Amino acid sequence: MPQIRLENATKYYKVERKKHAAVSSINLTVEQGEFVFLIGSSGAGKSTVLKLLGGDISPNEGAAFLDGVNMNRFIGPWNFRLRRAFGYVWQEPRLMRKRTVLENLTMAARSGGLKENLDPAVAKALSLVGMVGAEHVYPAELSIGQSRRIELARALVCSPPVLLLDELTANMDDDNIWDIFHLLNELNVHGTTIIMATHASKYVNILRKRVITFRDGKLIGDVQQGRYGDISEPPKRIFITKK
Ligand code: ADP
Ligand code: MG
Repeated sequence: MPQIRLENATKYYKVERKKHAAVSSINLTVEQGEFVFLIGSSGAGKSTVLKLLGGDISPNEGAAFLDGVNMNRFIGPWNFRLRRAFGYVWQEPRLMRKRTVLENLTMAARSGGLKENLDPAVAKALSLVGMVGAEHVYPAELSIGQSRRIELARALVCSPPVLLLDELTANMDDDNIWDIFHLLNELNVHGTTIIMATHASKYVNILRKRVITFRDGKLIGDVQQGRYGDISEPPKRIFITKK
């Protein structure tokens, strides 16, 4: 079961010929079975860190490791190792518009390495996200909340050990968000690592998981059982006794 690690990872983008660090010198280890929230305002670097953690992009400096092996080595056929390890819901919707839900999920199952029992895997994923019966629907016919659920089903179809979720619950109503967090908590209890970029402060505060905060591309806080906005562990209580 994978451990993921970023070591001094920096990612640059070129904007109008100028090099701009989206994130810089990120050191971060996530062990199997953790539930981690990535917090920070828009542009802070959450999506870039998720992409680095999942081997979707490579750092320009530093390195990303999957179980101690530099992810740069998983190119070509080894890419398979990454696809097996991670289920991803991207910030921007990525369902194929001209394919039904069933086709979208079946293709994801194949590219994740499933060769048989595709239909039961798809059915199970749809049932987990509460979307049984949506098999023959096209993405354009779904509401935003429904398409996010389908994207989560697509991420789950191969039962990956690690889920990388980028603003999964943005634009959802409270009932939907509750459902999703309930499901994620359940998956986590059964061993799935969850790494989730989110603005859903209310739910972060209720769940009290590890909270990692970014500002201007830097990791500025990493707190166990944290609340939204915590950047350091609460100070130990000091009892002052009156003389
Ligand atoms: P967040 O997810 O926290 O909103 P991002 O990781 O998307 O932050 O972005 C971090 C910084 O990197 C921002 O300044 C953003 O403009 C920049 N950035 C991200 N992706 C790209 C890209 N493909 N090209 C240029 N700049 C990018
Ligand atoms: Mg983002």
